Amino acid sequence: MALPRSLEALWSGGAVPFEGFIEAFLFGASLLDGRLAIQQAVSAVARRTQRAGGSGFDLWASPHFLVVHRAQIRLDDFWRGLEDGLAEAASLGLRGCLVIDAVNHFGPAHGQAVLDLVLPGLPPFVKGFSTGGLEGTPFREWAPVFDRARAAGLRIAAHAGENGPGSNVREAVLEGGVGRIVHGLRADSATFELLAERRIPVDVCPSSNRALAADVVPHPLPRMLGAGVRCALGTDDPGVVPCDLGAEADACRAMGLDEAALATLRRNGAEDAWCLQD
Ligand SMILES: [Zn+2]
Repeated sequence: MALPRSLEALWSGGAVPFEGFIEAFLFGASLLDGRLAIQQAVSAVARRTQRAGGSGFDLWASPHFLVVHRAQIRLDDFWRGLEDGLAEAASLGLRGCLVIDAVNHFGPAHGQAVLDLVLPGLPPFVKGFSTGGLEGTPFREWAPVFDRARAAGLRIAAHAGENGPGSNVREAVLEGGVGRIVHGLRADSATFELLAERRIPVDVCPSSNRALAADVVPHPLPRMLGAGVRCALGTDDPGVVPCDLGAEADACRAMGLDEAALATLRRNGAEDAWCLQD
């Protein structure tokens, strides 16, 4: 298959604009075309987690994109493939759960359509709902979608302050009711204090950030930890931006973080990961 140029750039360690990530993501997603492909993808995550010494993984997935938008897999095959992959993970002693992703820039009506698709017969391994993509819609407009997901028993996360302004992080928390932030890179110091005060977990993914938010330098992770934000390391999207948890830890050391800081990141991950909570 011909690779998109953005994916070749990311695989060779380059940085691309966020649209380049979306192109690479779409290419990767096109390969998830059946139960077996889904199972193999989860199995790869499980083996990578095991190699990194982890005890579980929170996995983001976009069933609406695969089942409705691209119509390349049936919902039932999507769920069964995940079940198979998670059973394999369990046989390795790992816990895994799913966070359903909706596309921020498609807007809240799309968010409702995602919930329409997944809520009937929602499998127990689905623990969360999140927005990703371009931060194009104000989070206050997402609040009704988040409320509905929460009423169905899901925890709420959002990609915020990654490709959009730092004020999105504050809005996601205060106006969207979001309980977990992905990236949060562009937030200001007052927002870091808010996140710390409310003990809101923040997933930080240095390799992905370097590739997709190359203008945010230096990386704010040391400042976030200094402010008491509950950051944990994530790999974001290892199929697109090659990395594993070990590489993320090395990136932290290169930022000047010491082993005590790395221990804090690991502890936060263990305490806040949804796959490890009941
Ligand atoms: Zn991400």
